[in-house]
Amino acid sequence: MVAKTMDQLVALCKRRGFIFQNADIYGGLQGVYDYGPLGVELKNNLKNAWWRSMVYERDDIEGLDAAILTNRKVLQYSGHEDTFSDPMTDCKKCKGRFRADHIKDGKCPNCGSTELTEPRPFNLMFKTSIGPVDDGSVFGYLRPETAQAIFTQFRNVVDSTSRKLPFGIAQIGKSFRNEITPRNFIFRVREFEQAELEYFVMPGEDEKWHEYWKEARIKWWEEQGLKRENMNIYTTPKDDLAHYAKACYDIEYQFPHGMEELEGIANRTDYDLGNHTKAQEEMNLTSHCHPNPDSTQKLCIMDDNNKWVVPFVIEPSMGVDRGVLAVMTEAYEEEDLGEGNTRVVLKLKKHLAPIKVAIIPLKKNNEAIMNKCHEIKQNLLKLGIGRVALENTGNIGKAYRRHDEIGTPLCITVDFETIENQPESVTIRDRDTMEQHRVNVADLPAYLREYFL
Ligand code: ATP
Repeated sequence: MVAKTMDQLVALCKRRGFIFQNADIYGGLQGVYDYGPLGVELKNNLKNAWWRSMVYERDDIEGLDAAILTNRKVLQYSGHEDTFSDPMTDCKKCKGRFRADHIKDGKCPNCGSTELTEPRPFNLMFKTSIGPVDDGSVFGYLRPETAQAIFTQFRNVVDSTSRKLPFGIAQIGKSFRNEITPRNFIFRVREFEQAELEYFVMPGEDEKWHEYWKEARIKWWEEQGLKRENMNIYTTPKDDLAHYAKACYDIEYQFPHGMEELEGIANRTDYDLGNHTKAQEEMNLTSHCHPNPDSTQKLCIMDDNNKWVVPFVIEPSMGVDRGVLAVMTEAYEEEDLGEGNTRVVLKLKKHLAPIKVAIIPLKKNNEAIMNKCHEIKQNLLKLGIGRVALENTGNIGKAYRRHDEIGTPLCITVDFETIENQPESVTIRDRDTMEQHRVNVADLPAYLREYFL
């Protein structure tokens, strides 16, 4: 198989409208991207698959959608204000700035100079002033992870749902990190989306659940189309763990630029709830927590013996943008069709495909054919299978090529036979096999329901 490069993916994303550089007309904003007409569909489909597997298919997980603007105190007591930083180094020669832990052989990645400053911590959070006074005295942050609001809303969720351990709270949303060197397309960006689950368990049962979620998440990624042999489980060495973690697995994926982190699965212990809770002295906390005179709520839950306990938490945290990049990388293929012909095809799982079915008229200006296309589209929309697109190019070969490239599983062609013969029938073409066969229009809903649902 032909090797997939980042350049091929970036070109496809721009050409077909998946992902664009933000503020392109002004030269761009570094580390910020916009999702185009097809990208928004693919990303939504991936998020929906995650939400479905976490919230709808289980009975032990609730959802949450919290604010992005974050009270400074939350990120003070979570430890982010003091410790959420990367080591930064400057090149004395070309003045470039880099993450010190990304530098190889002690050389500047830009000019090769070895004259680098000592690494110093650079906090990754975006500070923003809140309210009408802009003198820097009243400020908050754009959240650097979605997790913190799950911890601060823990008691409100427990009280409103009567949950018992173990149970989880899931959230999908934007996070912001002022990365020193954003790079590799949407892999490392400054504004991104996370899908995070905080799964609360009895202390002592945390290690068992950590293993459980590692396995569950690998399986889920396989269901999104990633091959097991393209994933790797990396166990973070103790010295490299985040400030809140007791242990962490990374699910890594073979991206075009290398085997890199797609999702982190951390054992965050009682660190966060313990730091945010009031009355810490009553809580029998096991990890080191800073005194918290500001919190007004006890972040604990009743165990089976009617004792208050601060749960431990296991956190599978996936990057949605890295997920989009991974499923696109896996799905991208350039096929040799013989006789000098090739095609690009995106073999996405059908639940992820931005467009599920394309309806293609044989002739674009033929009223009878177009009316039939509209009628078929209206009927298919009722199935709730996702986006059904009506093509109006009148060039079938071109339409097939475009839909192969964007991963549309099925194309339906409406031709003169459809409108002139009884029973009415259309041609259905399969993206992967390119095989075509005729199906009666009356049978289309049942055919597609069977195929997609
Ligand atoms: P890295 O080591 O690559 O900087 P991290 O370990 O800091 O990532 P986490 O804090 O564990 O990342 O965040 C959970 C997930 O959020 C990551 O697995 C990744 O998929 C995603 N993520 C984190 N930072 C970024 C970023 N700058 N751009 C895109 N996705 C990100």
